[in-house]
Amino acid sequence: MPGYFAKTEQHRRLVLKALLWITMIGGLFFSVVNLMHDNWLLAGLEIGYAGVSLYLLTIIDKTSNLQLLTAIYLLPFFSIMIVALAQTTTSFAVFAWIQTIPIICYLLLGLRLGMYGSILFVGIGLFVFSRRFSSDEILQNVEIIANLGLASLAVMIFAHIYERSRILNEKRLTEQATTDALTGLPNRLKLAEVFERERAHALRNGTPLSLVFIDIDHFKQINDRFGHEVGDRALAHFAKVLAQRLRINDLFCRLGGEEFAVLLSGSKTAQARDIAESLRERLAAKPLVVDDSTLHMTLSAGVACFGVDGQSLDELMQAADRRTYAAKRAGRNRVITQENMAPALD
Ligand code: GH3
Ligand code: MG
Ligand code: MG
Repeated sequence: MPGYFAKTEQHRRLVLKALLWITMIGGLFFSVVNLMHDNWLLAGLEIGYAGVSLYLLTIIDKTSNLQLLTAIYLLPFFSIMIVALAQTTTSFAVFAWIQTIPIICYLLLGLRLGMYGSILFVGIGLFVFSRRFSSDEILQNVEIIANLGLASLAVMIFAHIYERSRILNEKRLTEQATTDALTGLPNRLKLAEVFERERAHALRNGTPLSLVFIDIDHFKQINDRFGHEVGDRALAHFAKVLAQRLRINDLFCRLGGEEFAVLLSGSKTAQARDIAESLRERLAAKPLVVDDSTLHMTLSAGVACFGVDGQSLDELMQAADRRTYAAKRAGRNRVITQENMAPALD
């Protein structure tokens, strides 16, 4: 699953694409207008900029450095706005473009850079405007600048609020999509995401990485005997008890049903087996008390090791799953690794 950054980048790529089309068409149109006004400087800048926009449109889907592309786009774009505003032949309506700066900055650069970019370029725009269009009447000047300044500030504040809630919502949705609602543990999607990161780390540094597949024993009997609601409580209890034993860097997730997995970065098979054994013992020592019954749970687990059992998450899952079922066949409530598994079963 793509991470948070990837989604933000996808969103920014779309915004940039839309702006490139607008500036290409706008650049061509206004260059003709400026040629008719004999403003060769501005017409030349606008034609050049339309050409740059067209070029960026052809490479935007391929580029990996979107931020650099955005900078190449924004700097001349804002500079041309300011130059246009400073020209004696242009209308004061050019300032309408200055007011798009906060929205463009926030959508393309995010909160911090968006704020700096908006303040800088809107500030310069206001300054240039005040120099060019000031009259002898001070009060009127103040009124015009206050109107434009406050309107620009309002656009900036709205853009800031919008971008902040967009980021928060995206974060919340990503968290929801990668969290199991019943236990609060990460889910399979999160495991896939973290595995890719840990796999790259293991390959880069030559460190071990292990996966433990865990299946609760005879869980159906808990549902049958106590009801589905108690079954849910038992799953939450199981998750809590095991999570307390694990380190912050271990990824403990619910795969679905009564099946769980632990990704142990930096652990070889023997260490992973020890951790799985301690999880098994801890579970046995912490039964769930339901009304006047004590509900004992046990687990069966299989351990797989990155490199030994394969390179992909699928291969590790298959190996660990196979060993878990070997543990079931051997009587449940045990941990099986490659070493303690009968060769015929692996
Ligand atoms: P084994 O020792 O062979 O693993 O037996 P088992 O009973 O644990 O395995 P089986 O796969 O037959 O049953 C798993 C049960 O888990 C069946 C299903 O009703 C129950 N289950 C799966 N998801 C949930 C859930 O979210 N809540 C509850 N209460 N039960 C669930
Ligand atoms: Mg199962
Ligand atoms: Mg089971």
